[in-house]
Amino acid sequence: MTRVRRLNNDFDTGLVWFRRDLRSTDQAALYYALKHCQRVWCVFVFDTTILQPIVNAWRARHASQTPEDRRIEFILATLGELDQTLRERGGGLIVLHGDARETIPKLAAQLEVEAVFTNHDYEPAALERDEAVREQLAEGTREWFTFKDQVIFERDEILTGQGKSFTVFTPYKNAWLKQLTAFDLKPYPVESYISHLAAVPAKLDRGLPALAQLGFAPSNLGDLTLPTGASGAQQLLDDFLTRIDSYADRRDFPAAKGPSYLSMHLRFGTVSIRTLARLAHELSLQPDGQGAATWLSELIWRDFYFMILAHHPKLARGAAFKAEYNGLRWETGPQADAAFAAWCEGRTGYPLVDAAMLQLNRTGYMHNRLRMVTASFLVKDLGIDWRLGERYFAERLNDFDFSANNGGWQWAASTGCDAQPYFRIFNPVTQSEKFDPEGRFIKRYLPQLQNVPPKWIHAPWLAGADRLAEFSLMLGKDYPAPIVDHAQARQLTLARFGK
Ligand code: FAD
Repeated sequence: MTRVRRLNNDFDTGLVWFRRDLRSTDQAALYYALKHCQRVWCVFVFDTTILQPIVNAWRARHASQTPEDRRIEFILATLGELDQTLRERGGGLIVLHGDARETIPKLAAQLEVEAVFTNHDYEPAALERDEAVREQLAEGTREWFTFKDQVIFERDEILTGQGKSFTVFTPYKNAWLKQLTAFDLKPYPVESYISHLAAVPAKLDRGLPALAQLGFAPSNLGDLTLPTGASGAQQLLDDFLTRIDSYADRRDFPAAKGPSYLSMHLRFGTVSIRTLARLAHELSLQPDGQGAATWLSELIWRDFYFMILAHHPKLARGAAFKAEYNGLRWETGPQADAAFAAWCEGRTGYPLVDAAMLQLNRTGYMHNRLRMVTASFLVKDLGIDWRLGERYFAERLNDFDFSANNGGWQWAASTGCDAQPYFRIFNPVTQSEKFDPEGRFIKRYLPQLQNVPPKWIHAPWLAGADRLAEFSLMLGKDYPAPIVDHAQARQLTLARFGK
């Protein structure tokens, strides 16, 4: 475990290690470092122990050897903005490429800093890394301080009346709201001590690495409407605030501009969770506050899953939250492999599922309702182990976060805490009729269904070949026939879980 020390002393020099907190305002570690040190340097590490698995996963799935990853480009662009902001205030960002377990202690020694400051991470592998860094720093008698920054309440801060951690969301949320005070939402006034930023020493001022130096080729990030950096987060937030009132009504319809699209920014900390929760909380208390209250609930889900992971590190080792489901027998073999490939590539013959997977593959984003529909389809219609889908999402999602992704998958697979019961099985056709009634979202990703009217677009095979020909569509040629019969699959799933 990372040891959190009380910060009583002041230091001459300190180093802030940026990770999932790529902003210069309301940033806990940056604030405490500036407050307690006379001179503060800032560093970000492109950690090879994180990048290499991304490269390996890419090579396992693609013929081309040079991987593309929107997240790496997003980080690069964001670091460029952060570096400039820090330079305008007398500092700057040292950017390294290597194993953080080695590069951070080495840099701390090179700069002869007395203390290193960083924000909490909750993933077991990150905690191990942090402990290794702390131990090495201690050998050089350097201090190590870590802070809560990416959540409002962490780990043990919200407990049941019996002092236990929650496993069900609604009582957790009620306790979270009850415990919330203005202090929890207060921004860290980084600006008060900004003059303590130290300029990047000339010998370390190498600028940002090029994408190719990190081993990546350009992705299509530039073609997407996904603004980067803290300024990008602000732009998305400003836009969302004009429509937050309608969030509760619109958030389930993928063709509508309902959600905030801030998840990638929350993932990389280009926006402070305190800013978002404060706005949502204030607006939720207004007469028309239902949209903001619903959105605040989603932010609380985020805290909930971080808390669950902190208490149940076995989740990071692939375990089902409910141990009795570890022994489920999933479909395997060539047929299951082919079904999994069809799911990944958006070729299942269920238009909403396919359009959703194409959205993921082409943009790195998938609407929340569709994450639930596609996850349910993989597990309950195709009978495939949720861990395979979890891994696929992890590779593809711009906003991939282990705790939320694992929580979402185990919810859909009925193996998680507070999960959907196994006998409640989403019907991919009725989900489509309900949440994309006109097929507007479907047609965005499946133009071959352009002429199919709403009556048939959710399950085109029911229209019959003659009618489909009127819509210029031939199943098996222009668009796949369904790879599974939902009613039969449902029975198999009930049997699989009921055993
Ligand atoms: P908004 O609706 O605007 O929500 C605001 C923020 O609240 C989100 O950005 C996110 O940080 C948080 N949030 C919303 N819903 C959830 C939730 N159910 N659990 C935890 N946090 C939530 N979210 C991720 O951030 N990373 C993931 O890897 C991830 N994987 C998922 C996998 C599955 C199978 C499912 C069902 C959900 C997953 N989610 C994940 C949750 C959710 O789908 C996304 O957070 C949301 O779609 C992001 O879009 P948004 O920012 O426009 O959301």
